[in-house]
Amino acid sequence: MTTEMSGTHPALETGRSDALFAEAQALIPGGVNSPVRAFKAVGRNPVFIDHAEGAYLYDVDGNRYIDYVGSFGPLILGHAHPAIVETVRQAVGRGTSYGAPTAIEVALARAITAAMPSIEMVRLVNSGTEATMTALRLARAYTGREIIVKVEGGYHGHADGLLAKAGSGPLTLGAPDSPGVPAAAAARTINVPFNDSAALEAVLSAHEVAAFIVEPVPANMGVVRPLARYLRRARELTRQHGALLIFDEVITGFRLLYGGGQQVYKVSPDLTCLGKIIGGGLPVGAYGGRAEIMRMVAPIGPMYQAGTLSGNPLAVSAGLRQLELLAEPGVYQRLNRNAYRLAKGLRAGADRHNVPLRVQRVASLLTAFFTETQIRDYDSVRTADTTRYSRFFNAMLARGVYLAPSQFEAAFISLAHSEADIDATIVAADAALAEVAADR
Ligand code: PLP
Repeated sequence: MTTEMSGTHPALETGRSDALFAEAQALIPGGVNSPVRAFKAVGRNPVFIDHAEGAYLYDVDGNRYIDYVGSFGPLILGHAHPAIVETVRQAVGRGTSYGAPTAIEVALARAITAAMPSIEMVRLVNSGTEATMTALRLARAYTGREIIVKVEGGYHGHADGLLAKAGSGPLTLGAPDSPGVPAAAAARTINVPFNDSAALEAVLSAHEVAAFIVEPVPANMGVVRPLARYLRRARELTRQHGALLIFDEVITGFRLLYGGGQQVYKVSPDLTCLGKIIGGGLPVGAYGGRAEIMRMVAPIGPMYQAGTLSGNPLAVSAGLRQLELLAEPGVYQRLNRNAYRLAKGLRAGADRHNVPLRVQRVASLLTAFFTETQIRDYDSVRTADTTRYSRFFNAMLARGVYLAPSQFEAAFISLAHSEADIDATIVAADAALAEVAADR
């Protein structure tokens, strides 16, 4: 089967992808190794990728797509960047893992601490989930408190306590989002709406809170811009109430600017979580922060955390090389210029076809929400029309543009996207928005 929506756009050849998906579904839950890769929300089978280069993905059926997923963030240089490929090639010849320290781990720690002054010490792990899970353990160890506060719609990986979402009110204690999460773990998580300092203050006043964990720019409910002073107020309030402030910069770190959201918004968190982008597309994560807190970590402190493949030489080499390239002058201006061009083109297309669309862009992260409602938090995000997004997604895919298969994800602009790629995307979007408009 191909798309359920037969629309006016050209059909996509997906024979080999469909055959692989049929087999994958029998062998792997849902046929995918991470749920976000399924195309369920957009009513079709996923396409299977054969290879990628620069701004393009190539599927097993020979279709080429301009890619705006970029492996959900890390491929900021584009796919198979020659410098990264060469670095990994050299690294693999020296051995794939030692279970012993290396000079490049020190170099990566040096690069991270130089980029983000709030990070005085850093520990490398293997994924963003590991980073956030451990940062919470560390915050609890340091403060001697158990309650964690997070933002409704904020995603921080799949550790038990982070898969909890508040019911209606911001003061409601969390209930598990997934079977298998112990009620006790969820009950120690409280959700607050993003961009609502008063709600945060109320929770911090009413509970002994270990930490408030937040993405400086939430990107996992689609991109939501922080209101002026929201993050600074969160800094003041957490300090005032003896809670740690944890920035989850798994997406925003080295993305919004080299120094991440904390550089953009001039807020210094106690702990920071990093992920995928510091591995150049190889599996990696990190957590770090004030030395006084990080000294709680084993083997110098009592809080245990370990990892056989942590600081893996392939991932660290690739990450280090990627950070070197991102530190070059003009990189972020170039990224943002192209993202601005795309946002402008999408808005113009929406206006032309009279489709209500809120294009939210922060630096090179962008989400086009199919709604009239102003976007500021989870409730406003949920007003988006997912049926329209699905139509748009399918029309774009058929025209060779690969977007995230969910309304509630970001599009990631990379340095490999040329102006011509952006313009081709805008042309495709114009036709896709015409299809969306015709559905009315
Ligand atoms: N934190 C944020 C902000 C993320 O976007 C993600 C994943 O997308 C994670 C944590 C979890 O990272 P990982 O998927 O590497 O476990």
